[in-house]
Amino acid sequence: MASDQTLVLSGKRAVVTGAGRGIGRSIALALASAGADVAVTARTSLELDTLAGEISALGRRSLAVSCDVTDPEQVQRMAATLLEGLGGIDILVNNAGNAGSHKFLNHSDKLWHHMLAVNLTSVYYVSKAFAPGLVEQRSGRIITIASIASRVGGSYIAAYTAAKHGVLGLTRALATELLPYNITVNAICPGYVDTPMTDGSVANISARTGMSEAQARETLAKSNPQRRLIEPQEVASIAVFLAQDSSKGITGQAINIDGGGVMS
Ligand code: NDP
Repeated sequence: MASDQTLVLSGKRAVVTGAGRGIGRSIALALASAGADVAVTARTSLELDTLAGEISALGRRSLAVSCDVTDPEQVQRMAATLLEGLGGIDILVNNAGNAGSHKFLNHSDKLWHHMLAVNLTSVYYVSKAFAPGLVEQRSGRIITIASIASRVGGSYIAAYTAAKHGVLGLTRALATELLPYNITVNAICPGYVDTPMTDGSVANISARTGMSEAQARETLAKSNPQRRLIEPQEVASIAVFLAQDSSKGITGQAINIDGGGVMS
């Protein structure tokens, strides 16, 4: 299908990590609905293939490549395949991530290293793989899904919080360094979003506290002053906004989407 010039991302090429489900899946579909060709990556091929089919059905090009973003060699291969397949990219969405929790006393080193690898170092690897192409073409967007845990501390999530604070620091450093090349680098900081990751947190809370899953979900919803979980599509809308040409003046920013819990 020919690209529709009335769509805000018509002619753009995007890559979304962690796109198989949850927020990443919503972002991939929203970018495609806004006109972009979208390549998707994560570890689970089946979910990626289904999503790529949905993107193609919207009339956009799509590619699906399986990759563990904590492995630099896999990231290099994934980036080379997608850059060749799309002929370059304009928008990178660093979304892949994972939450793990534990009391700080007796915190396992394994959990610490995994949280930093999947939520912070992965963003370094993936951004490093795609930045040269963006620099060469003198334009681009890097959008990272951080967290409200990038803004404030919370109990039992020391490693996740440290990683998500780190990713905000990386966002600001890259925004500064890539500014001369018309590349904007921004972060989105959601509170609890209704995704499979949050389903996992609900199950975990329920198992540890004896609460029912409904009560555990209600507890997470109440951490949002609007007393609800954020929908993945709400996060996707912000990603589409940041990806547009008209957002070229916004860089080094972090946009909270948490129902007004953190006002900074
Ligand atoms: P989900 O667990 O629902 O989905 C995560 C996606 O990331 C999956 O597609 C998963 O696919 C992929 N992924 C996980 N680990 C890796 C890996 N090592 N390599 C490649 N892909 C990986 O998570 P959400 O959609 O909820 O979260 C997405 C992002 O949003 C994360 O960065 C998260 O920290 C952040 N966030 C989420 C919030 C929430 O409440 N849900 C709140 C604030 C931020 P696969 O397993 O197949 O690799």
